[in-house]
Amino acid sequence: PSGPTIISAGELLVEFVSHRKGCGLEVVSEYSGPYPSGAPAIFIDQAARMGAATGFYGTVGDDGFGRSLVARLREDGVDTSGISTDPDRTTGTAFVSYYEDGSRTFIFHLKDTAAEAISFSAEDLPDGELILHVSAASLGAPKLRNVIVQAVEAVLARGGRISCDPNARPELMRDDAARQALQEIVEQSWCLMPSTSDLGYLFPGLGEAAAIERMLSAKAEIIALKRGAEGATLISQGQRFDIAPHKVEELDPTGAGDGFCGTFVGLLAQGVSLEEAGRRANAAGAIAVTRRGPMEGNSSPEEIDAFLAAENTRA
Ligand code: ATP
Ligand code: MG
Repeated sequence: PSGPTIISAGELLVEFVSHRKGCGLEVVSEYSGPYPSGAPAIFIDQAARMGAATGFYGTVGDDGFGRSLVARLREDGVDTSGISTDPDRTTGTAFVSYYEDGSRTFIFHLKDTAAEAISFSAEDLPDGELILHVSAASLGAPKLRNVIVQAVEAVLARGGRISCDPNARPELMRDDAARQALQEIVEQSWCLMPSTSDLGYLFPGLGEAAAIERMLSAKAEIIALKRGAEGATLISQGQRFDIAPHKVEELDPTGAGDGFCGTFVGLLAQGVSLEEAGRRANAAGAIAVTRRGPMEGNSSPEEIDAFLAAENTRA
């Protein structure tokens, strides 16, 4: 692969998805899984599928869940040498159930699992130009936060760039340390990819245009605004592209944001233009919501080509 190496660090977990809407994780229903998951893992898997050089730092347990995670990432081209196995902890897990209105409820088991037992040292970083991606969801757990903040500092010290999905969760933002870490990382980021719903947490009281101005007044050179079923907007150095959404049937939206970000950064790293990277990321996000399982929604360049071609003939 050409271009900088994209790395990410954070929680590795497997997810079980309830097939019945509205069961709220409270009644017996059918589930499928274990699906590979963890926001930074979905991101890095998709960046690798786009052909970028990639590596991941995280920890799994010595169990089938952990082995399936590492195997998937490796198959898809991620350098997994930064993933360690903790013999004393089990792999992180999550359960999710959807409601009829599209909202969802999660139960996460991350605390005291291998997911939080990650370590990192600057010597572990690959040689050459680096982009470190931070998924803000990881910053809520103190152990993950410490390691990610260290990684950000190490990559910046090396002259590398930071990309960030500031997927602010209300629970996360109530924690002052998490909020502060996120704010510092946002200010240090070269590429920011918030969803519209994140803007209110990040920039309370500011409208969309003012929030974008605020981001561009710091270090950010590229902004991708994720609009869910409304598509996406890409902004950089006086350019702006509003990308119309694809019409799809939403089966499982979890992971669409991470797949969007992985496509976008993975392509930018290989020199693809802002508009083309955004157009393909918008398609990757749309494909992702049609498939059950958070990382199952990730797609290959060929699948994205075919999806875009089919859309064109319909229009
Ligand atoms: P997550 O819910 O995983 O945190 P997110 O909020 O970060 O995701 P979304 O905006 O939901 O991200 O989705 C990312 C992108 O995927 C959107 O900007 C859009 O391009 C595409 N997308 C998501 N949902 C749909 C949809 N229902 N129809 C068409 N495209 C979609
Ligand atoms: Mg969403």
